[in-house]
Amino acid sequence: MSRPSWVATEKGSHLRGRRTRNTKPEMELRRAVHALGLRFRLHRQVVSRCTPDFVLPRWKLAVFVDGCFWHGCPDHSPAQFKGPNAQKWRTKIDTNQARDRRNNLLLAEAGWQVLRIWECAIRKDAELAAREVEHAAKERGDLD
Ligand SMILES: [Zn+2]
Repeated sequence: MSRPSWVATEKGSHLRGRRTRNTKPEMELRRAVHALGLRFRLHRQVVSRCTPDFVLPRWKLAVFVDGCFWHGCPDHSPAQFKGPNAQKWRTKIDTNQARDRRNNLLLAEAGWQVLRIWECAIRKDAELAAREVEHAAKERGDLD
């Protein structure tokens, strides 16, 4: 297994604190959600400095696809980092998780329901993940 070099990743959007858009799992989930007949909007800033991957305005449901590594998936983000950049990685993931919590809070305060789905869950079964979105929407009921 090759370890990504810090120099290369430093130029990546992750390390500038921005979420990566239109990742493969995100696209897969969108396709599956669309197939269920649910309508959504992409990359809308619904509260200050917070742009979910997509939102279902009808149910005020905000969906994030969280990358396992950078958002600290319990199954796929290492508990211990090795090498010269270990501390930087740890700090970066902690910062991401803190931002995720802040965004969850801001969205909830603004009346949004937040659903976060790990990229690994989508890789495993995109349709099941889409059902989760559908379920969350149905739980919300019609807001109109
Ligand atoms: Zn994972």
